Amino acid sequence: MAAFDLPRPAFMDTEELRLLEHAADRFLDEQAGPVERARWRAVGAVDRATWRKAGEAGFLGISVPEAYGGAGADFRYEAILIERLGIKHALNFALPLHNAVVAPYLVDYATEQQKLRWLPGAATGETILAVAMSEPAAGSDLQGIKTTARRDGEHYVINGQKTFISNGLHASLIIVAAKTDAAAGARGISLFVVETDKVEGFSRGRLLDKLGQEGRDTTELFFSDMRVPAENLLGGVEGRGFRMLMEKLPQERLVIGWQAMGMIEAALAVTLDYVRERRAFGGTLFDLQNTQFKLAECKTLATVAKTFLYHCTEELIQKKLDAATASMAKLFITETQAKIIDECLQLFGGYGYMLEYPISEMYKDARAYRIYGGASEIMKLLIARSL
Ligand SMILES: Cc1cc2nc3c(=O)[nH]c(=O)nc-3n(C[C@H](O)[C@H](O)[C@H](O)COP(=O)(O)OP(=O)(O)OC[C@H]3O[C@@H](n4cnc5c(N)ncnc54)[C@H](O)[C@@H]3O)c2cc1C
Repeated sequence: MAAFDLPRPAFMDTEELRLLEHAADRFLDEQAGPVERARWRAVGAVDRATWRKAGEAGFLGISVPEAYGGAGADFRYEAILIERLGIKHALNFALPLHNAVVAPYLVDYATEQQKLRWLPGAATGETILAVAMSEPAAGSDLQGIKTTARRDGEHYVINGQKTFISNGLHASLIIVAAKTDAAAGARGISLFVVETDKVEGFSRGRLLDKLGQEGRDTTELFFSDMRVPAENLLGGVEGRGFRMLMEKLPQERLVIGWQAMGMIEAALAVTLDYVRERRAFGGTLFDLQNTQFKLAECKTLATVAKTFLYHCTEELIQKKLDAATASMAKLFITETQAKIIDECLQLFGGYGYMLEYPISEMYKDARAYRIYGGASEIMKLLIARSL
């Protein structure tokens, strides 16, 4: 039994994608080995230098058009890179958020002038991107956000607070959701691109102390009479923010799906190695039928999850992926990730509970996947609407 050996469908089985896969593996072996990963967790963030090296190596701005300094590739390339980060147990490096969640807002909604200003820096790693929707009193229910943006001459004055923001420490270009019209519900929400080193009234909270994903910089953000130039309103028109968020969330859900998938593959691989080595009752753990059955179940679930992920990825590339199907992908793959990693950890026995074993880190890291990017319950709401 191989840990995972599902052949790639033709649309993802190209020479170029193989080259990217090998280049990503080399980069991650050099820059995201066990020593680096332990340091990220200890200090609560990936080194700024690693981001720049990723930019130099061509791993940032993969789907940013070439005219703005990117590689002009499609989501398949993002998917492969994300999967390799998972397989190499390096997902604390929130490169997928920068590349495949936030950059697409700029690519798809920014005016030409805004693209020329912001995309080249995002492709080199000179700027790191974040998106700030969630607030202390509004996460799932985004229409309930309290952050306001009031037009004042050639500026907007933004007041409010965001929380749980990934890349919150390093990001210097943050897409912030705020209400430009408190009475207009979803149509009153706009997105602003905040250049953090050019505005006053912006501050970051401390690094939040998390259960897992300790190497990701997650912070609160505060806006106190923060004056943002009017030309930083994303797309240049007020009231379109909620629609932009709803349109981009299906891709974000696949990004999370690919991360979860990469982690599943890593978990299966380390577990299979372990049970083949570990001796008990005159043989290895793998000789026990329970171990084989558990891993057979895990492999089946992983194969089903990945097959569906390929399907959704193809739909996304063809611009046919709807919100309900993307939600099914996020729901199924992240719930499957939790089940598989839990079963795998069990097969490690006491060693599975020791932090020096990657399976225990995966167990902790995986927990957030069923919460962020829309919690499992919200995925069910969206799926139910399609019934
Ligand atoms: C590690 C981490 C990183 C994050 N990064 C970012 C980021 O970069 N940017 C950003 O904007 N946000 C980020 N988030 C926030 C994340 O998106 C929210 O935590 C998530 O959307 C849930 O919102 P909440 O925490 O306010 O929970 P709540 O909305 O208060 O939900 C609490 C519980 O109630 C359930 N619930 C809520 N409404 C319903 C309903 N109608 N029916 C049934 N159940 C319901 C939820 O599913 C959940 O189980 C991050 C969160 C974490 C943990």
